[in-house]
Parts: sequence; structure tokens; C-alpha cells
Amino acid sequence: MPDDLLLRLRDFHEDYFPRHQQRFQDLVAQGQHPKTLFIGCSDSRLVPYLLTGAAPGELFLVRNVGAFVPPYDQSHGLHGTMAAIEFAVLSLKVERIIVCGHSHCGAIRTAYEGAPEEAVALKAWLKLADEALLPVQPSPEALCRTEQRAVVLQLMRLMDYPMVRRAVEAGHLTLHGWHYVIEQGEVHVFDAVRGAFVPASESDHSGTGPYLPYVEHDGQVLE
Ligand SMILES: [Zn+2]
Repeated sequence: MPDDLLLRLRDFHEDYFPRHQQRFQDLVAQGQHPKTLFIGCSDSRLVPYLLTGAAPGELFLVRNVGAFVPPYDQSHGLHGTMAAIEFAVLSLKVERIIVCGHSHCGAIRTAYEGAPEEAVALKAWLKLADEALLPVQPSPEALCRTEQRAVVLQLMRLMDYPMVRRAVEAGHLTLHGWHYVIEQGEVHVFDAVRGAFVPASESDHSGTGPYLPYVEHDGQVLE
């Protein structure tokens, strides 16, 4: 008896693929030319293709715990997210980078509560959210604000990547900070001018760059 995953593989091949065969063949013949690098949290509830209505070939994806961007420290370490950013900007020449966090993010909660002792890599990785943490008990509201602050923090880190800064300053690349609210089915986009995340239904753009310090309504500045 085939297992569940095998059945799904067969479904893809026998049902989906024949209906979209030409597109896949074109993507092989012409190569991929995605315009968007999507940096998203690994959370299973975040489904980038559903949110953006993207088709195969449209999103260059990198996902990790928390949707974090490592600091550009020139250590040239074995870093997958960093490599993906370099490849997307230098080789694919993407026109947009989206950093997408989300509500009820386990990475942000764990950054407050601490990871299991044995999870040494996770502990180190979650330090990338430190600057976004608030000096309060992690209430649902505080967690939501921290998730949003973490997105902005990553946008700011992206600007430390020389190839990103160059492309942004040349007007070839835009940066978009998103906070996906799972229970509302809506992405809130970061508006650098307003210093706030705005529901997509009320926003007139899909996010503006990172350059201004993030000023929250209580006057706190994230730098
Ligand atoms: Zn998450």
C-alpha cells in the first residue's frame, strides 16, 4: 500500500503537472527569472505561494526559523540565508526582497522563553531577534509587536549587505516588510513613512523600504 506522501507525489505528476506542463518546460528552456526574493519563517502555516498568488518560477524562496537575516559580518561562514541573498541579488537580479514574519511565531516566543538546552544552534540563531525583544512579559500584544519589530530589524540588516544597498540606492531593488496575521488571513505591510504596519486592505503599497528608524506609536525607536 503506497504511503500518503507517495500518493501525493503521484497526484502531482498525474494531475497538476499535465495541466501546467508548458510552464514548467518554459522555465527549464528559458531558466528562472524570479523578480522576488521571499525570506520567510519556516512556519508551516505561512504559505508564500498562496499569499502572493505566485506561480512556479516567480518566487526565489529562503526560509528559516523566524525569517531572520544574519548580520553581514564578512566572516564568509557557511550561511545558507546569506548565500541566498547574494545569489538572488547578484545573479538573479531580483527587484524585490520580502521579509515575512507572522502571528504566533514560535521563533519569537522561544526567543523570550528560551530554547531547549540541547538546541545549541537554535539558541545562537534566536539571538538574531534580541534587538527586537521588549523588556516586558511576552503577552500576546507584546509578541505581536516583537514579531513586527523583528521584521524591521531584518530589513535594516539587509541594508548592510553591500550588494543590497547598492541595488536599493540605484533604484533597482525595493524592500518589503510583511507581518502575516494567520487568523485574519491578511498581511500587514510595513510603511516606513508611517512607522507602522498597515493591513494590506488599507495600504496603498506592498511595503516601503527600511531606511528610517522604526518609530513606534509610543515613541520608541528601533535602531
Ligand atoms: Zn515563525
